Amino acid sequence: MKITLTKSPKAKPDFGKLGFGKYFTDHMLVMDYIADKGGWQEIEIIPYDEFKLEPSTTVLHYAQGIFEGAKAYKDKAGNVTVFRIDENFKRMNKSAERLCMPALDSKKVIDALFELLKIEKDWIPTESGTALYIRPTMIGTDKTLGVHASHDYKFYIILSPVGAYYAHGLAPTKIYIEDFYTRAALGGTGEAKCMGNYATSLKAGEEAHKKGFDQVLWLDAQEKKYVEEVGSMNMFFVIDGVVVTPMLNGSILPGITRKSAIEVLKDAGYKVEERRVSVEELIKANADGKLDEAFGTGTAAVISPVGQITYKGQDMIINGGTMGKITEFLYDKITGIQTGRYEDTKGWVVKVC
Ligand SMILES: *Cc1c(COP(=O)(O)O)cnc(C)c1O
Repeated sequence: MKITLTKSPKAKPDFGKLGFGKYFTDHMLVMDYIADKGGWQEIEIIPYDEFKLEPSTTVLHYAQGIFEGAKAYKDKAGNVTVFRIDENFKRMNKSAERLCMPALDSKKVIDALFELLKIEKDWIPTESGTALYIRPTMIGTDKTLGVHASHDYKFYIILSPVGAYYAHGLAPTKIYIEDFYTRAALGGTGEAKCMGNYATSLKAGEEAHKKGFDQVLWLDAQEKKYVEEVGSMNMFFVIDGVVVTPMLNGSILPGITRKSAIEVLKDAGYKVEERRVSVEELIKANADGKLDEAFGTGTAAVISPVGQITYKGQDMIINGGTMGKITEFLYDKITGIQTGRYEDTKGWVVKVC
């Protein structure tokens, strides 16, 4: 690995007013894949800067690109840690496989990421709700308009100190069940964290925003009957005391926070069901006064309470529009494990330095 440090470090932003993904640290990690030179080249850590790409670069036309999202934390004693980062690179290799891109040597890349985090440790905010967001990305870099898998690729990791994902922090969100546009169909790329998925979801998001909603809750593309997930979060519902989440069916992104939440809830003695959840079931549960809670899970938003879900003009107000007990328990537990407030008994937290 080659390391080149910046000669002009940037001024750090106000860690109390970070927002999400607006600031980037002084350095980044890059590694090129060159088919004619045997594949992955040496990993380099270099000053954060622009890339030079020809306008013909394939990712700029056909979106052969994938990414990941993880977070690094710094505890009171100054220890730098990451949460289940091995899972991120396992998933990235699955996304790569789906998009005909080359696999990464996860261990090598994680070791190099740790070196980058050591260099950037002063960029890790410690205020409650903040973290250093880690964005690994891979793009196809062939210079051609031909539609085929690229031969050459660029992999890079950039880092961004972040605050709350939603501007209103932990206040419950209002969610719109989208009954026209779809995000992902079976056989499509819903399971992969690939760039195109997000481009296709923007229109529904914009329209929902105009109607006063924070997020779109997607339905299955085939029947438009079953809820799948929110744009960047997996969904959970508490129905009559039982925690229910849509099962992974091939079009839902397998979230690492989702998987962790299921384990934490089961350990705490809650009943958790992974199965199909229809809009009809939610409407009926709400009418019967049994839709106790709803929340989303994701690295960026962590655990995000949902206070209202609307389907075809029908509002379901959940827990009086406030955060529910199980949601609060889970938020406290997951963020506690991530930031070292609670002991990690599962080997999820890895110390970087
Ligand atoms: C990243 C993402 C999630 C959440 O996954 P985590 O691993 O928990 O961060 C959920 N849905 C979509 C569509 C995503 O892109």
